[in-house]
Amino acid sequence: MSTSIQSHIVTLLSKKEVAQHVFELRFSKPDGFSYTAGQFVQFLIPNGEKTTPRSYSISSIPTEAYLEFCIKLHEGGLASEYIRAMNVGSSLSCKGPLGRFVVDVNSHDHYFVATGVGLAPIMGMIRSLIEEKNADHPVRLLFGVREEEDVFWIDRLEELKQKHSLFDYTITLSQPKPTGGWQGLSGRVTDHILHHLGKHKFYLCGSAAMVKDIRTLLLENGIDTKDIHFEIF
Ligand SMILES: Cc1cc2nc3c(=O)[nH]c(=O)nc-3n(C[C@H](O)[C@H](O)[C@H](O)COP(=O)(O)OP(=O)(O)OC[C@H]3O[C@@H](n4cnc5c(N)ncnc54)[C@H](O)[C@@H]3O)c2cc1C
Repeated sequence: MSTSIQSHIVTLLSKKEVAQHVFELRFSKPDGFSYTAGQFVQFLIPNGEKTTPRSYSISSIPTEAYLEFCIKLHEGGLASEYIRAMNVGSSLSCKGPLGRFVVDVNSHDHYFVATGVGLAPIMGMIRSLIEEKNADHPVRLLFGVREEEDVFWIDRLEELKQKHSLFDYTITLSQPKPTGGWQGLSGRVTDHILHHLGKHKFYLCGSAAMVKDIRTLLLENGIDTKDIHFEIF
């Protein structure tokens, strides 16, 4: 992992809405940009005379030629409105890579828990483990969103599961629509985390409330604090 924080200019290559208010964005990868899956960059968002940093996790894997992000656009948010207005070909300054939310690749079973765009770094970590590091131990994901329109990357998760027998995932909706036809699990991630509990390393990413609740449950159920890693958005 790099310790010096470098500045870069990245160019938007593609922008796709993958769920309501959630966009997958791919940017050019600067020459020599080296990162570990799970790290983030700070976009320097133009804000009058100055720039204001906003952090975004990298969802791609280091061997890919671009940097991918998965960003929820909040109405009126400084970065959200700037990114909403960006078109393919526009450039942006950023700093990075940053952060220590990276996967321990030694032979452990890995259990990832993501809510919403918390899936961004976790997608990179899971893909890096099974596609780049050839993990030979189970990798499990529990992914929670509110309703049907908030689910994204289900096609990617399904493809990963088909290709890698050691990977499995579960999606749960906290508020599925009565008429939405959802046939998967419902409830919060806290309702399901204990169902597959084993000797895992845990990686949690999402809101502060989710991370706090899951961490408390895990600690109450005998998981060691050193085996719980998290990033709060
Ligand atoms: C390490 C790290 C990694 C992150 N990675 C990602 C990522 O991969 N994808 C991603 O989408 N975000 C990520 N975030 C969050 C991101 O940095 C911004 O905080 C977020 O995009 C809002 O920025 P903004 O400038 O648009 O809103 P701001 O101008 O900061 O906020 C304006 C208004 O937007 C609304 N708002 C902002 N954030 C939220 C929220 N979380 N929930 C509800 N309303 C909100 C509120 O009304 C707020 O008053 C990450 C944060 C951290 C610390």
